[in-house]
Amino acid sequence: MNKIHLIVLVLLASLTAGAQDQQPKWQGKFEQLGQMLPTPNSYRSSSGAPGASYWQQKADYVIDVELNDENQTITGSETITYFNNAPEDLKYLWLQLDQNINADGSMTKKTSGGTIRDSIPAKMLATTTSLFDYKGGYSIKLVKDAMDKDLPYIINNTMMRVDLPQPLKKGEKFTFKISWSYNINDMMMISGRSGMEFFPADGNYIYFIAQWFPRMCVFDDYEGWQNKQFLGAGEFALTFGNYKVKITVPSDHIVGASGWLQNPKDVLTKDQMARFETARKTFDQPVFIVTQDEAIKKEKERSKKKSTWEFHADNVRDFAFSSSRKYIWDAMAIKNGGNNPLGQSLYPKEGYTLWSKESTMAIKNTLDVYSARTIDYPYPTAYSCNWVGGGMEYPMISFNGGRPAKDGTISERTLTRTVSVIVHEVGHNYFPMIINSDERKDTWMDEGLNSFLEKETIKERYPKLDHVSNTPKGIVSFMKGDKAMMRPIMAMSDNQGRSFGPNGYNKPAAALTLLRETVMGPELFDKAFKEYSQRWAFKHPKPSDFFRTMEDASAVDLDWFWRGWFYSTDNVDLTVDNVKWFKVKTTTVDPEKKNISVKAGDLSATLSKDKAVDFSNGPQEFTVTNTPETDYRDFRSRIDDGSVRKKLDGKNLYEVTLKNTGGLVSPVIIEWTFKDGSKELERLPAEIWRLNETEVKKVFVKEKEVVNIVIDPNLETADINVTDNVFPKKAAVNKFDEIKKKTN
Ligand SMILES: [Zn+2]
Repeated sequence: MNKIHLIVLVLLASLTAGAQDQQPKWQGKFEQLGQMLPTPNSYRSSSGAPGASYWQQKADYVIDVELNDENQTITGSETITYFNNAPEDLKYLWLQLDQNINADGSMTKKTSGGTIRDSIPAKMLATTTSLFDYKGGYSIKLVKDAMDKDLPYIINNTMMRVDLPQPLKKGEKFTFKISWSYNINDMMMISGRSGMEFFPADGNYIYFIAQWFPRMCVFDDYEGWQNKQFLGAGEFALTFGNYKVKITVPSDHIVGASGWLQNPKDVLTKDQMARFETARKTFDQPVFIVTQDEAIKKEKERSKKKSTWEFHADNVRDFAFSSSRKYIWDAMAIKNGGNNPLGQSLYPKEGYTLWSKESTMAIKNTLDVYSARTIDYPYPTAYSCNWVGGGMEYPMISFNGGRPAKDGTISERTLTRTVSVIVHEVGHNYFPMIINSDERKDTWMDEGLNSFLEKETIKERYPKLDHVSNTPKGIVSFMKGDKAMMRPIMAMSDNQGRSFGPNGYNKPAAALTLLRETVMGPELFDKAFKEYSQRWAFKHPKPSDFFRTMEDASAVDLDWFWRGWFYSTDNVDLTVDNVKWFKVKTTTVDPEKKNISVKAGDLSATLSKDKAVDFSNGPQEFTVTNTPETDYRDFRSRIDDGSVRKKLDGKNLYEVTLKNTGGLVSPVIIEWTFKDGSKELERLPAEIWRLNETEVKKVFVKEKEVVNIVIDPNLETADINVTDNVFPKKAAVNKFDEIKKKTN
């Protein structure tokens, strides 16, 4: 190593040491988001509302599909009418071919990693190396215009570009047809957001059919065509439109779908018809349309006949359906706004004890609570179907996991999981089915807001069930992790990796809980949240529209909050650095000196610099001097210095020093415990950090003597280390033992 290098190294080392000594006090945590948000324009206003020139595209679908139960395939043909409302011409259209995620050589297969260990379960290895004998992906049979003329198209992985004969002008529409087929994936081997479940005991399938037809991509003012490839984690960006769908299945199947059944007389028995009509008028408990006995009897049938179920849906962003001869079916009408949507549940006998009791009631509870916080439920029905995965949502229909033990018993864990999943997936009707955000990029905009309302629903309607994972307390273990390994919430869905779950669901839900309960207060938060929901119902909101609306509707500057919680990986970690106890040296202590003017500097300099360990040394005394004449400048009047001293007579003054160790600025909640055992909770807004983001000192005047203080005593702020939140330290341990006992 030569000398110059050495000098540079020494210099670098000393610079680094210097940097460590003095933590930066200003990092701009309270600066406005400014250029981090897109510039408002006539499409999206600076208030966070849709702008005066806001527009969005529309796509109507007429689809014929057959589900083949013999070879487990989907064969369909669709006529799409695409309306161009954009202020520009379109030369081509982009459609999503999501089934191609399962095609040979898909980007998902090529880019998913894997490792070999000394032993690996066969299923896991077969999954990571695509060993299962399954040929997935679309077979596109034709793409033609309304005159049956072939349209040129090109497929790029999960995207298909269709070239138009001539540019589609603003205000014009274009009608075209596509026919296709694909093999349905067995979810036991090829998991995903749709597929089928096989039941070896009776040889039947339940089908959960979604992302099953070529769907229009979103074209919007924000980024033109949203044609980002489907890799699996990021869900969908979809255009609203009206659907007319005919679904042909074996005639012993029961079908549920994203829409209202148009031809019940063609597909239901007389008994089923009568029960269906009863259910539509029954509001207090679910009515069976197909009973368990009837469903079990059908398990042995294999009808060779076919039935065609026709469903219509208006103003939806997607369409999915489920079909099986195993289905038990119950339904109940639900009062919501001026409508009476029908809650409907479909489940096999394997789910009976749990589902007959909980599913349709959970639909009702979800619509009740969500609508109170957002908008009335606009659709005629909401289905909840029991599948074998976690949960997956589509307009008016969701596929939800959770089954009782083989003997029908239901553990508390299963109950909690199942009810939470049903509430969550039915809740997705609001986010993103109606408030139609871009799931492919911004998972948190639907999953986070939805997990927040899921938690609110569980808290309100199922107070005995656990909902901690979507609260600040529940996110602490994630927030404690290595900041350098984390992604911020705002990172794109497919790039989240291990942060996907927490950043998509729990962290934004916890942040919104903190926002509601601690930062804004329920009244302001609920008003602003409802405003956002109303503004963007049946539209395409972006993150900035949410951020702006929450401020616009509440007069709370939240830029620091979005910056810290959504754009950074900082965590909340406040520390009580020091608490000093003072009393004013008063004239009553020394009556003969009462007319002598007191001087500054009585307080022992060494004592005040030392860190207090507890309150055992008693208060330090300090002097309140007379106000110097110079402080009055040109004022002719004077204050009564003596009365100020008198007001502080016998009072306890506490100078509290707090440090922000985690970087994320937070409101400060102080619990004071006094000598007589009484307590006081004091709340200070996060803006207390705006002039010094790493350390604040504040003086409090208390009538009574304080024995200890605790910061964030009820674990509202997601503080990752609460052991340093207390003073004196010893009392702290007891305090948190208490909390621990309470929460266990
Ligand atoms: Zn979800």
